Amino acid sequence: MKILITGGAGFIGSAVVRRAVADGHEVVNLDALTYSANLENVAGVANSPRYAFEHVDVADAAAVSGVFARHRPDAVMHLGAESHNDRAIEDPLIFVRTNVLGTAVLLEAARAYWRGLEDAAGERFRFHHVSTDEVFGALGEEGAFCEDTPYDPNSPYSASKAGADHLVRAWGRTFGLPVVLTNCANNYGPYQFPEKLIPTVILRALEGKSIPVYGDGRQVRDWLHVDDHAEALLLVLQKGRLGETYLVGGDSTQRNIEVVRTLCASLDRLAPANIGHAERIAFVADRPGHDFRYSIDASKLMRELGWAPTRALGDGLHDTVRWYVENRDWWQGIRDRGFHSERLGLVKA
Ligand code: NAD
Repeated sequence: MKILITGGAGFIGSAVVRRAVADGHEVVNLDALTYSANLENVAGVANSPRYAFEHVDVADAAAVSGVFARHRPDAVMHLGAESHNDRAIEDPLIFVRTNVLGTAVLLEAARAYWRGLEDAAGERFRFHHVSTDEVFGALGEEGAFCEDTPYDPNSPYSASKAGADHLVRAWGRTFGLPVVLTNCANNYGPYQFPEKLIPTVILRALEGKSIPVYGDGRQVRDWLHVDDHAEALLLVLQKGRLGETYLVGGDSTQRNIEVVRTLCASLDRLAPANIGHAERIAFVADRPGHDFRYSIDASKLMRELGWAPTRALGDGLHDTVRWYVENRDWWQGIRDRGFHSERLGLVKA
């Protein structure tokens, strides 16, 4: 099928693009190329006859409609977003513009295009919104999110994603647009922009700098390898029930400090330094409104669509460290553009 993928130059979007092209789909990658985008992430498919790129802002209605008219996709996978919690504290309005308004603009363009399709193509059409488990807020020591968990976002990022989720569901219920939604746990793997925890730890360690851990590091996250996520997304797009939400998670919860220590142990093996990497860990001020724990019950996706994660967290983290060690050119390019994994998102008094 021909899939319009937004945010396909980012971390998860590029994994979906690479996987979709490898699976034989045609892909149109719509991306505004913000700071976190990198066309090197899709260089391996850029010359494929099944790949096209559109440098378009998802909130630009005329440009987005033009993409639908030119490419006539069978489905949309919407991943283009502002994605980093710390930046949402610095500049929340860009999150509202891209994640809420941008999603509404994309929905309207998709609706106009879908209404013009003949019956069979209209029935096959899908709009898949890719979202986060953070829309459900924070858990205590027990329990896990499931599809019925009430929305309770705590941060400007998660609130903007919750707003987008609600818009997508409303376009489905009100206009009959054939939508599916997924909410996923924290992703890790190659090509992740070095502002999120895992690439920040790896790169700062490789550069001999301190390794920042927010607060006491006891926050718990559910981690999923990005390639397992990409596979789940393509499965939900093709086989998910209309109007349904599926939670996606790796059943791999760990405290942040445990993840950091695991990464340091891998770094000691793959890039030994004059001191053990864990000795560079520095506990720093916590993120304002930092959610304590996320955990995903992905049993609906596993039961209905037969999906299961394929990578154990320990192996996946080790492979991720190896990827950053072996792909210095990729991240040095980001450093050269002035991004040094510096601290963002402390609320000023
Ligand atoms: P990312 O920051 O690496 O990539 C985002 C991409 O969206 C970039 O290529 C960027 O250029 C593009 N983009 C931003 N604003 C745009 C705009 N106005 N118009 C068009 N394109 C725009 O983010 P990611 O980590 O790959 O996340 C992708 C999606 O998955 C997001 O919707 C995010 O909310 C969701 N998600 C992420 C995680 C995670 O752990 N990273 C977990 C669950 C869900």
